[in-house]
Amino acid sequence: MRIEELEKEIHLCKRCGLYKNRKNAVPGEGNIFSRIILIGEAPGYHEDLQGRPFVGAAGKFLDELLRIVGIKRENVYITNVVKCRPPNNREPTDQEIKLCSKFLEKQITLIKPKLIITLGNVAKNYIFKKFKLKNEPISKIHGKVYKVVSIDSVITIIPMYHPAAGLYDPKRKDVILKDWLNVRDIIKSIIEENV
Ligand code: SF4
Repeated sequence: MRIEELEKEIHLCKRCGLYKNRKNAVPGEGNIFSRIILIGEAPGYHEDLQGRPFVGAAGKFLDELLRIVGIKRENVYITNVVKCRPPNNREPTDQEIKLCSKFLEKQITLIKPKLIITLGNVAKNYIFKKFKLKNEPISKIHGKVYKVVSIDSVITIIPMYHPAAGLYDPKRKDVILKDWLNVRDIIKSIIEENV
């Protein structure tokens, strides 16, 4: 399946109740050949309006973080665990995650990532379960680097705080900035491997 077909399928999807209130589904966007995928939780208000991931205030902060580590946004693939906005930006339920995850799984299969950066708890929980990593609270493992062996390569997984966590808390913002700066060289070397 090509990414365009998958995105079309997501736009038409009615597998869970979140389709009822969406203005747009948000499949994800970016370069599927970069082998780098960033995964957030679910679309918010602005993402739902525009049909694009991370375009609100948290998205602007994410852009800043990407600049700091030398990643061009258009050169990575950015998506969420759940593709439609939950009402009032609540966390997606386990059932919604279960029903929607087939799309994320297909994206991961297409992208064959060498680097997965999870943004926030929901994505961290999903990816840690998928790769059978010992799960711990994000407050304990944010910014740590994990390696897992997949079928044909080693995948680096880095759980980060969701950028929204730094918007109204300057101390948390500093922690997030430091986490990204700490892994800048690791990210750079993965990008260079794939050039
Ligand atoms: S959240 Fe996922 S499963 Fe639910 S309607 Fe949207 S695309 Fe389909």
